[in-house]
Amino acid sequence: MKASSFLVSTLKEAPADAEVASHRLMMRAGMIKKLGAGIYNYMPMGLRVIRKVEAIVREEMNRAGAVEVAMPVVQPAEYWQETGRFEKMGPELLRIRDRHGRDFVVQPTSEEVVTDIARQEFRSYKQLPKNLYQIQTKFRDERRPRFGLMRGREFIMKDAYSFDRSPEAAQASYQNMAAAYRRIFDRFGLRYRAVAADSGAIGGDLSEEFQVIAATGEDAIVYCPQSDYAANIEKAEALAPTHARPAPAQAMEKVATPGKSTCADVAALLNLDIKRTVKSIVLATDVLDDQGEIKGSEVWLLLLRGDHDMNEVKVGKLPGLGGGFRFASLAEIDAHFGTKPGYLGPVGLKLPLKIVADREVALMADWIAGANEADFHVTGINWGRDLPEPDFVADIRNVVDGDASPDGKGALAIERGIEVGHVFYLGTKYSKAMSATFLDEDGKPRHFEMGCYGIGVTRLPAAAIEQNHDERGIVWPDAIAPFTAVICPIGMDRSEAVRQAAEQLYAELQAAGIDVLLDDRGERPGAMFADWELIGVPHRVVLSDRGLKEGTVEYQHRRDTEASKIALADAAAHVK
Ligand code: ATP
Ligand code: MG
Ligand code: MG
Ligand code: MG
Repeated sequence: MKASSFLVSTLKEAPADAEVASHRLMMRAGMIKKLGAGIYNYMPMGLRVIRKVEAIVREEMNRAGAVEVAMPVVQPAEYWQETGRFEKMGPELLRIRDRHGRDFVVQPTSEEVVTDIARQEFRSYKQLPKNLYQIQTKFRDERRPRFGLMRGREFIMKDAYSFDRSPEAAQASYQNMAAAYRRIFDRFGLRYRAVAADSGAIGGDLSEEFQVIAATGEDAIVYCPQSDYAANIEKAEALAPTHARPAPAQAMEKVATPGKSTCADVAALLNLDIKRTVKSIVLATDVLDDQGEIKGSEVWLLLLRGDHDMNEVKVGKLPGLGGGFRFASLAEIDAHFGTKPGYLGPVGLKLPLKIVADREVALMADWIAGANEADFHVTGINWGRDLPEPDFVADIRNVVDGDASPDGKGALAIERGIEVGHVFYLGTKYSKAMSATFLDEDGKPRHFEMGCYGIGVTRLPAAAIEQNHDERGIVWPDAIAPFTAVICPIGMDRSEAVRQAAEQLYAELQAAGIDVLLDDRGERPGAMFADWELIGVPHRVVLSDRGLKEGTVEYQHRRDTEASKIALADAAAHVK
């Protein structure tokens, strides 16, 4: 590919709503372009990355014996009515109506349609097991689309569905997929963890999420460094003995005298282990409209400082949740809550606030514990743009850092992750709801035993960037870089020697099967290098008259701090 005929469109600044590194960098590198909330154009540079992710996923799915199919993005509601999900699913499911008044859904996933295929096609046990997958556009009307491709409304997912004769066979299919997922995520070159996830009422323990480790991840994952125990926080909580941690609302009511309670009192009541010198407690609240419907969330932060005197409590809003962060004076807080002057401290929070759950308190305490004291100033808090927002629909949290691991082999640690894949044993939930049966060996109809397996194809590049970037831009793992190598000729328009050498190297790398781009735009060296560092191409070869005179070029890997001189003849070998 030559840059002059491709679309290279980098930006100096990221838009203000881009809070995390991957969103900022994908926008700045011209990989995506926003069209609406959670809806993006995949620009040519970004699409190349997505296609590489797809290719790896496809190759490993095929290797694992799955068969590719494509199911409609727009699906008649009747299938969704069969399982009851048309009504049950809530506002995340986008429902649309055609000119005849018939209902449709835009697929958020495809259990119904694939089960319909199975009940028509897989008549006999002899045709089983089968695994059908697609790499297809999904739509979920997410409550809070954000972070660019990380949580879009329209996104691409690889979704696979297995059909088996018996629970044992289905579990083998599940393990086969889990193994394929490990191969897939290994190939992306990312640090990830497979964690046990909640499988709902059925299916025992057969649900795992593949979480890319990143501080900006929206999920909390619990693991034991001394053993192979790892679970997402919901699963870990389901297993953990319930701590007698009172709900904040109740806890707050027990707080002693307004204006006199100490941080230690509150922390003890909430069972929070706040280790840093800055003591903080956070409360999440739902904001209700006139009808009492939830229209949003607010997070109010209580900062308890110094000697923990409640009179020094400061309250502020967190960024991204309706206004930038700022400290409020006690008088402003009183004005906001309509409280009498002095009627503050935790008791004040009994007033118009509905406290969502203890869980947020603990989640936010985690963030705060992770922040530096130097981040807390009299004038405000610099949260660091990479810190995640909490998920307010999350439930109560009973597991904290340092608890004993369920296997008794050590203490639990908590880190954040980005869910890039999910494998799930479904049992007969869908096959029963849709009367999907095959004839078993004994001639009797039996319901399919099913599993479903998702990978966030467009979320994955975002997760990769969260793990691999620096102040200059993205650092792609080779496997999913938009181009593996870029040739940057200096003065190509002026120097025939440079032009010829560049074209020749370009042809040579192409012949060697390397995904190479020749930057023939005639940009100045500084601008050209900045572009490719921002875009994150792993290998760069710079040609100039000066170097060519002595038969050398400059090679730099994106992770190198400086370029090294190499013989022109060795350039291809370096890039491989
Ligand atoms: P999340 O917990 O992040 O909302 P999920 O559990 O709802 O994800 P699944 O139903 O398990 O998602 O879908 C399979 C995969 O699709 C997820 O593991 C994730 O990688 C991806 N995915 C889900 N929702 C989105 C989204 N809004 N944007 C991008 N990718 C998504
Ligand atoms: Mg979801
Ligand atoms: Mg999830
Ligand atoms: Mg999931």
